[in-house]
Amino acid sequence: MSTIRLAISYSNVEVNSKIKLSKEDQNYLFNVLRCQIGKFIEVTNGKGKSFKAKIVDSQHLLITEEEKFSREDIFSIFLCQALLKGQKMELILQKATELGVKEIFPVISRNCVVKKTEKMERWQKIVKEASEQSGRSVIPKIHQLESFDSLIKRVKNGIIFWEKNGKPLNEALKELRIDEPIFLFVGPEGGFTVEEIKIADERGLQIASLGQRILRAETAAIVSVSITNFLLNNYVIIKK
Ligand code: SAM
Repeated sequence: MSTIRLAISYSNVEVNSKIKLSKEDQNYLFNVLRCQIGKFIEVTNGKGKSFKAKIVDSQHLLITEEEKFSREDIFSIFLCQALLKGQKMELILQKATELGVKEIFPVISRNCVVKKTEKMERWQKIVKEASEQSGRSVIPKIHQLESFDSLIKRVKNGIIFWEKNGKPLNEALKELRIDEPIFLFVGPEGGFTVEEIKIADERGLQIASLGQRILRAETAAIVSVSITNFLLNNYVIIKK
């Protein structure tokens, strides 16, 4: 049987501590996964540390040792995704988590069709489950919904993806610091406006292309994170 992984974001996760499982985690371990008492599983505090733990009874885990191996990247990708209709945000959150994104900023840009969400709780559940599935020790932080104009004021080290014009992603990455979080901006179904691209440009963000075809926003999000991740992990980009 494959390793069972559980993300438990309690503050007191350390070696030799006994952890009381939440009702939800008890249900997941015993009813969904049919775990037996005595079994060892992998747990993470969601903030970068993983541990081995023993199920000691129906409500508790004993943390036995810290895992030295990490599946986290040394760089940080923050995905700034304009709010999309339907369930597309959910797909993006799941895939971005699998691909190692550390923080996610849902953004309202001018062409967004939807401008609010009541799905924050559901989104948190999605990133928790995707972290567990992919063996991450970080659960990506999902920020509160924010307007493009407000977020862009705090960002310098980033890339905005524009289907109309832009440099290749590897060229854009060369201009960024990789010892600081790299912000990737992906637009809504209707794309970013020329004015938004201009604002990002004035802030010093790189404008990048993902090729000559126009991708759906959710494809663009997944592809932009994948390529960035690949380029940085394989040292294709010379560090600044
Ligand atoms: N409204 C646009 C159109 O129909 O021409 C398409 C917008 S696209 C569906 C949504 C977002 O995905 C864009 O805002 C952009 O951030 C990203 N995107 C899609 N294709 C891209 C490409 N070839 N290069 C860079 N970004 C792309």
